[in-house]
Amino acid sequence: MKFCFTIDTEKDYKTGSYESLVSGFRKLQPILAKHHIRPTLFVTCDCIEKYPKLFNEFKKRGWEISLHGYRHLRFDEMNKKQKEENLNKAIKCFKKYLKTSPIGLRAPQFSSDYELILLANKKGFSYDSSIVQFPPSQFIFFRSKLPLFLKQMKFKSLIKKNNLKIKEIPSSSFILPISVFSLRKLPFFIFRILARLSIMIRKDSSLVFLSHSYEFNDKVIAKIDKFLNLYKDSFFITMSELSKLQ
Ligand SMILES: [Zn+2]
Repeated sequence: MKFCFTIDTEKDYKTGSYESLVSGFRKLQPILAKHHIRPTLFVTCDCIEKYPKLFNEFKKRGWEISLHGYRHLRFDEMNKKQKEENLNKAIKCFKKYLKTSPIGLRAPQFSSDYELILLANKKGFSYDSSIVQFPPSQFIFFRSKLPLFLKQMKFKSLIKKNNLKIKEIPSSSFILPISVFSLRKLPFFIFRILARLSIMIRKDSSLVFLSHSYEFNDKVIAKIDKFLNLYKDSFFITMSELSKLQ
């Protein structure tokens, strides 16, 4: 089985500070090392501008640094020109601080529309991970975004029909996203079953685990460790590695 550990890396949405980002990674690193995990980080550019050294260190370790938007703004609320400007500024930031172009994209709050996919494809992104695999919870909690979620369900067939190079790799979900949030809220045995089901409904038998940089405290890390212990025999790979297998 293939397991991608993804981390949306951004300011703490409650406090607006970057402290939890730095302390969170410090806490998470031993667990990642223990399980031989190279995570994929979807990062907003303000974090890279603030901590270029930190992200270069991550890159040296083989972690994948992908894009979570120039800033943490919804793409579906931008027009085409604004979307393109956002991507251009982000690519410039990656080149300046990380000496590379981003190859993966996850729109903040899963806000990608097909216009964004076309732009990302044009700009050389090799994958997008801005949609949720089986999202009834999204329909309930973000009801106003239902039309967008319904359109997102067509991304894969549109990408195929239009012969685009970019791949769509949804975050794993079964009723609820397989994420730190669900891991915290649900009894462990239920979370474990949902994770297993999310793998079963996926053609490539992979798991794309979702987390945020501000979520890592000691209690959460202990739960993540317990969850990762279930997947000891998995191949822990990055999102770009998974995209190449599709
Ligand atoms: Zn985010």
